[in-house]
Amino acid sequence: MKTCTKCGKTFEDSNFCPACGTEVKDAPKAENGYTESDIKDNKVFAFLSYLGPLFLVPILAAPKSKYARFHANQGLVLFLAELIIALPVELLKWLNNYVFNVIFSKVFEGWLNIVPNSIGFCVDLIGIAAGALGLVLAVIGIINAFQGKANELPFIGKIKILK
Ligand SMILES: [Zn+2]
Repeated sequence: MKTCTKCGKTFEDSNFCPACGTEVKDAPKAENGYTESDIKDNKVFAFLSYLGPLFLVPILAAPKSKYARFHANQGLVLFLAELIIALPVELLKWLNNYVFNVIFSKVFEGWLNIVPNSIGFCVDLIGIAAGALGLVLAVIGIINAFQGKANELPFIGKIKILK
């Protein structure tokens, strides 16, 4: 959609305003297809997308920005991916601390403690690895956001929830 610079009328598919005939050129676009003004005006919203639940800010505050929306989508996907990993990890930690640990130390009188200890170690390791990966992806997204790039994140960037 274009907006006439003279009379303010909006229109599509023409280089001339249907109301007053003024020539309206396409807004300048960066290499990646987003307009330069969109990128410049919405970098901060793009950045916020990668700070956990703050992906909601660009969705609510810059709904017309394609650039902010691209990054909000990636922030949303990253947030969901972290949740999907964190929930079973936390559940397994809880089970291990309050169920497996109790069974193995009470019922088997301690001599099989290696089982809950090993489970606890693995679960902690998965949690730390997932957290570190999430942090790396967020940093990549933030750098892209400030550089005016709309690059897909590794692994999860192809998933589109926000159109
Ligand atoms: Zn006009």
